[in-house]
Amino acid sequence: MLVMKFGGTSVGSAARIREVAGLVQRTAAEEPVVVVVSAVSGVTDSLIAAARQAAEGRRLQAIQHAIGIEQRHTEILHALDLPAEEQQSMATELRALSGDLENFIHSVGTLGELTQRTLDYISSMGERMSCRLLAATLRAAGQPAEAVDATKVIVTDGNFGHAFPLMDPTRAQAEAVLAPRLREGRVPVVTGFIGATESGIVTTLGRGGSDYSAAILGSALGAREVVIWTDVDGVMTANPRVVHGARTLPHMSYLEAAEMSYFGAKVLHPKTIAPAVEGGIPVRIKNTFAPDAPGTLITAEAPPADTPIRAITAISRLALLTLQGKGMVGLPGVAARLFSTIAQEQINVLMISQSSSEYNICVLIEEAYAAQAQAAIERQFALEQSQGLIEGQTVRSGVSIVAVIGAGMRGKPGVTGQIFTALADDGIEVLAIAQGSSELNLSFVVAGAQEDAAVRAIHHHFGLDR
Ligand code: ADP
Ligand code: ASP
Ligand code: MG
Repeated sequence: MLVMKFGGTSVGSAARIREVAGLVQRTAAEEPVVVVVSAVSGVTDSLIAAARQAAEGRRLQAIQHAIGIEQRHTEILHALDLPAEEQQSMATELRALSGDLENFIHSVGTLGELTQRTLDYISSMGERMSCRLLAATLRAAGQPAEAVDATKVIVTDGNFGHAFPLMDPTRAQAEAVLAPRLREGRVPVVTGFIGATESGIVTTLGRGGSDYSAAILGSALGAREVVIWTDVDGVMTANPRVVHGARTLPHMSYLEAAEMSYFGAKVLHPKTIAPAVEGGIPVRIKNTFAPDAPGTLITAEAPPADTPIRAITAISRLALLTLQGKGMVGLPGVAARLFSTIAQEQINVLMISQSSSEYNICVLIEEAYAAQAQAAIERQFALEQSQGLIEGQTVRSGVSIVAVIGAGMRGKPGVTGQIFTALADDGIEVLAIAQGSSELNLSFVVAGAQEDAAVRAIHHHFGLDR
């Protein structure tokens, strides 16, 4: 049994949806398939924008967004040219979902408030629409298929916006809802990105979370493999939009893939690997635009690369917060207090770096939370600051983390030297450095404007384009 997940661009038009249906149909002739599908590209962004506009009192604009979303799906539906009956019932379903969406937008507008719970409901609409269109296209092609809302399968906690799957009830639901359909030869086309709490409230797994949905279902059903179909040939040595010579990696380990996705390789949602590791399920990345290309296979062990580094990734729009002061040297627990202060604000720390002199500690967080973190730290260390033990903090926004990833760096100290020489040769200033304990990853901070140049310099220096 196989899970096939299709991203937003893979279902971005009627022509794409037909291609995808063809791929699914050919695979389903060989073995049972569960399909997971994202919203049509751009739709989730539109839904979130509409919800925010409604909350800010721009209800007219919000409703126009909602109408635009309905139109986009209706146009795809017409271009799909389905049999009359299928066309009719799809039009009715799309209208019902759109009506529901408009009602929610009006409610948000009236309340003037948008809770994360309501935002999750509104942003679930994209997947609920796209999965119906793909299921109908499959049926029209003669492949028995059925749209399934993941709210009936993936059971999560109530952490709206970043819900966590509860695997035991999810396994039971997958067995109850998906397994019978598979046995009858019907392809379930499941919404990515969303789930529901035990009491049935809609949740989302985080932006880009359809990959995660696929891995959760793969693990729940004991799939042979999870295949992530996207718009590039696989996981590449760098983001192909930044490095034109980036190459596709044929094989990598779970650890390397996890590290890459944590450090910004959008091709795979960072949480995808965990359920795959748990179930020992291989994950394959394939290109819907070039289905015959071999793609990338991700398994527990991968053959060593011929270069010490495998890939380079980057995360943009971060802030570098530095706490400094000579008095910190002898002061126990400063780092722990700094981290727990940031954690209490529910802000994620992406990187930590401390100079050996201990005069300063740096943390990297998302730029959007910089002011909030700064205020909390100010309060936490007010006493030490008044005593002159801590001089204060500086905040530098608009920085990026660049991460160099590869199991081959382990025990090769020379590699680090080469990386920094390559950067210096290209005039790139490094603002902070951290080495992950896994030794799979060396990450450093540069000004946002130098992010791409840093990635390119290292990619070129290690000959990854060869
Ligand atoms: P989907 O909609 O199919 O989920 P995403 O846009 O989420 O697709 O992810 C695919 C994109 O990830 C690619 O188009 C590419 O721009 C980006 N990307 C970033 N880093 C990498 C990388 N190292 N390898 C491949 N793609 C990458
Ligand atoms: N549609 C969702 C998003 O845009 C999930 C996904 O595409 O994976 O975040
Ligand atoms: Mg994605």
